Amino acid sequence: MLRLNIGERHLLVTTTVLGIFHQFHELAELKRENGGIVLGQYSESRQQVLVCRASAPGPLDQAMNNSFRRNRKAAQQIVEYEFYNSSGRNTYLGEWHTHPTDRAAPSPGDLHMIRQQFASNDVRIGFLLLFVVARLELFVGLLDGGSVVSVTVSDYLDFLD
Ligand SMILES: [Zn+2]
Repeated sequence: MLRLNIGERHLLVTTTVLGIFHQFHELAELKRENGGIVLGQYSESRQQVLVCRASAPGPLDQAMNNSFRRNRKAAQQIVEYEFYNSSGRNTYLGEWHTHPTDRAAPSPGDLHMIRQQFASNDVRIGFLLLFVVARLELFVGLLDGGSVVSVTVSDYLDFLD
């Protein structure tokens, strides 16, 4: 479990989710980007976010050399499936994708995407997460309407067991 503080919130990312990030980063080494959505639970009273699910890229997603565009309908089905199968506990928390680079920094397009998503989506939790997975680093951004607060984790692979 990776634990970090981001803004005023405590974030927990399970080893399973980190494993999915890492696995698809390796598969994306040949320049294609991969990604999906992240899901989990948010306790407002404890300001704690548990990221315990990450969707794998699907056949309807468009993975391109320098960007990743997920299929909206497929993602919605995953959100509904997870919600149902967790008795309403797991909810949509945000987005993740890989970069074929050593360092993880979101592109202007990535930041635009997460802002668009925040503005257009029914965000139940009041914020959205953006994970950018690179070879040596994991970028974690949190957008809650204003600016993006972020943490870059340089040793996320150490949490894989
Ligand atoms: Zn990106």
